[in-house]
Amino acid sequence: MLTSYNGWPASKDPAEIGIKSYAVPGTNRKLRCAEAVAPLLIGFAAEFHALIEPIDDGGLDDWGYCFRDVRGVPGKLSNHASGTAIDLNATKHPLGKVGTFAANKVPMLKALAKKYGLAWGGIWTRPDEMHFEICLNAEKAAKRILKLSQGATQGAEQVVV
Ligand SMILES: [Zn+2]
Repeated sequence: MLTSYNGWPASKDPAEIGIKSYAVPGTNRKLRCAEAVAPLLIGFAAEFHALIEPIDDGGLDDWGYCFRDVRGVPGKLSNHASGTAIDLNATKHPLGKVGTFAANKVPMLKALAKKYGLAWGGIWTRPDEMHFEICLNAEKAAKRILKLSQGATQGAEQVVV
């Protein structure tokens, strides 16, 4: 079985790795991602929409599963190939560009990513501010999902930075 660089199973056959399409609550957008991490990615996208910026304005520039290499790095499978990464508002936050988010939103953005077990591409050497990916293994992801579901009635002010 192939894996993307975060260690999750990757395949060009989406059914083989449990890729499904999920509506993002509060929006008219859907994202394709791996079932095992969907509560993390979709939960994050919903809070991003509510607290950072809307994702259902303009074109369809919100992406999940896609079987491909990291852009510009042939042979290194992107975490999109395992359905464990999403890009949000890609046209507003192009690869390589920094400072595309309002500065006063960045602390909340980082806190939300942490809450959902995600790494944000915005802090990388080659910045990718649209990009969020799972940085937990399967066991830790399952635990995080359970923990979040137990705290589901709490609001964003409960985010621990
Ligand atoms: Zn991406």
